Amino acid sequence: MHAKPYVGRFAPTPSGHLHFGSLLAALASYLDARHHTGRWLVRIEDLDQPRNMPGATDHILSTLENYGLGWDGNVLQQSQNLDRYSHILHSLIKRGEAYYCDCSRKLIMEHGGVYPGFCRTRDLPAGSNHAIRVQVPDQQIRLSDRLQGIFSQNLASEVGDFVVRRRDGIVAYQFAVVVDDIDQGITDIVRGADLLDSTPRQLWLYHLLEATPPRYLHIPLIMRRQGEKLSKRLASEPIETGHAPATLFRALTALGQQPPHALRNAPVSEQLAWAAPNWQPQRLPAIQQMLEDSLPPT
Ligand code: GLU
Repeated sequence: MHAKPYVGRFAPTPSGHLHFGSLLAALASYLDARHHTGRWLVRIEDLDQPRNMPGATDHILSTLENYGLGWDGNVLQQSQNLDRYSHILHSLIKRGEAYYCDCSRKLIMEHGGVYPGFCRTRDLPAGSNHAIRVQVPDQQIRLSDRLQGIFSQNLASEVGDFVVRRRDGIVAYQFAVVVDDIDQGITDIVRGADLLDSTPRQLWLYHLLEATPPRYLHIPLIMRRQGEKLSKRLASEPIETGHAPATLFRALTALGQQPPHALRNAPVSEQLAWAAPNWQPQRLPAIQQMLEDSLPPT
């Protein structure tokens, strides 16, 4: 058990509206936090400006409110934190843990997509179109996920030294997420299983930044068809705000929570008042993907 009081978060990217899959991630992290009488924060991950959709942040926040998912404190927007990221990136470079790289995507693809560390020892100076990469160790990095069990990756052979600031100057998700989770004192991360694969990279950053990693729970992703994620990019329909009670009931059922039938049309506040104390994450299917067709109908 963590000695620190529970702090959870939902960290959407404002590249589109909330869809049913992101509602499940928000709901699961909210319920896990409230079940542990913890705090629940919302952070908008808006660093990839070209991908941001105008109006998405407001829509995401008003949808969360509509579903009764009230957060604690202020909403942090990552775009307000650029100085902090740059400061830490430069201290990693100074310590020799990170370095500048001017390799093209084409060159990396020619090496099977795993970056072979060409620039590790070149000692390139800062350059406006240089990426920054972090050196990774040749060892298994393991995590014990609360739902998915043991997951492990050798970063050197499976990923390579990875990008923490892109060549276009945009700070990479992998890096910003860890800096903010540390700064915000996050003890528990509940999110979609598409990010399981990113977690060993993030654990390596916790190590470099000398911080204690959180506990993880990766919930199954909803797939439209085999291999086709319900993603914002695929323009999955935004979830209905007009039928929040019915959709929330469906979401609780999809999370395996077996809400009492009498709550089907109850206001969202009543459904959540039942769901938080009764939250049983072990009822989630311990799989990384589930098909939309297997979910209960609306
Ligand atoms: N911003 C990421 C996304 O929307 C999620 C970050 C996280 O939960 O670690 O996919």
